[in-house]
Amino acid sequence: MNAPQVLGLRKSFGFGDRLGLATPGHLAAVRQFPDFAPIFAQQSIREMTRTQRTPVEVMSAAQSALDSAGYDGVWGADADHLKTPEDVERVAAAGFCFFTIDPSAGVNNQADQMDEAALRTAVAILEAEGLFADFSWRDYYLDRVFTPGHGIILQFDEETILRAIVKYSRATAIAAQLAEAIVRSSKGRPYEIEVSVDETDAPTTPLEHLFFALELKRRGVENLVSLAPRFVGEFEKGIDYRGDLARFESQLRLHVAVARFAGPYKISVHSGSDKFTVYPIIGRLCGRSLHVKTAGTSYLEALRVVARTEPALFAEIAAYCRGRFDTDKASYHISTTGNDIVALPPFRDAGDEAVYLDETAGRQLLHVTFGSVLTLGTASDGRSFRHALLERLAKETDLHSELLAHHFIKHLSRLNAG
Ligand SMILES: [Zn+2]
Repeated sequence: MNAPQVLGLRKSFGFGDRLGLATPGHLAAVRQFPDFAPIFAQQSIREMTRTQRTPVEVMSAAQSALDSAGYDGVWGADADHLKTPEDVERVAAAGFCFFTIDPSAGVNNQADQMDEAALRTAVAILEAEGLFADFSWRDYYLDRVFTPGHGIILQFDEETILRAIVKYSRATAIAAQLAEAIVRSSKGRPYEIEVSVDETDAPTTPLEHLFFALELKRRGVENLVSLAPRFVGEFEKGIDYRGDLARFESQLRLHVAVARFAGPYKISVHSGSDKFTVYPIIGRLCGRSLHVKTAGTSYLEALRVVARTEPALFAEIAAYCRGRFDTDKASYHISTTGNDIVALPPFRDAGDEAVYLDETAGRQLLHVTFGSVLTLGTASDGRSFRHALLERLAKETDLHSELLAHHFIKHLSRLNAG
């Protein structure tokens, strides 16, 4: 049995697979890009809850597909968005060795709107809680000149350090606690850590990134291989990047410098599916110091198989999703509105594939409703959607792999196009 391994600082790509049937297609794509180390088992606790899968099932789906394909290369297993020590224990027991810590509960999203007086008060509270016991953040951060290379100079003034402390210091403490849980649960086996703050309201400035990384180090977080800041612009689910490309590029350049200086570790790009416009920029600036995560886009390719080969079933799923949209969109950051969904024409036959699987509103509709489709929805013939979907995919393994391979070759080649 070919077990997952730690990938260290190798350039890597994460293929989330919510249905447990996508690995053959993922493998076909990444075989053409040996410069990327693949992560074939990757699922957050939230996704596992929404798909009613266990960490063991996620792991064994990837493992058995790789065994059948005779794959003997290196691959990783990423337990994504871990928020509690209990999460850590469950995934470590299933053999995951790449742990993504999500300390976003400790991120203060109000910090960007606070004036200096409010920031001062908030810092005093954090100090009273003991977040800076035996450590003078003033001496360490203030008026110090950080030179991460390439002529870049980073320096905190009073207000920027206060804001960084208010915004992120609690999160770094949570991350350190989870890192301890990872060390305990790994029981001497090799492990690696990513820390992600991508799912927060406010973008992470390069200076805040620097503060965050130095605080992780100060708090003893080891084996940090990647960090996912919240970038400027919008990384919405299922669609391309939205935002100012020049600004994205200038900020990313600084983030990359910080990651080399404070690490080195890789820049991790979450919600990394379908961001074709920015891939060449990301690939060029990050070089080998890059990790990209995708997940929902593979589910959409599975639905494309259904749209083409069992359009009546797809039509039922699409209609069901339209009814779920307002409820299911709540936990997502997307620009598609209920009115956009009302305006979508109903799916009649395979000729309507593009409306649902290539255009923004359709893709986001199908994206946010995956949990409902996979755990609640039923077809008119009484089968659960999940069952019907898996049954159809079992009959169409070639088409499914072909569509996935095509889709990810596009991802990987764009990342290498810069
Ligand atoms: Zn994420």
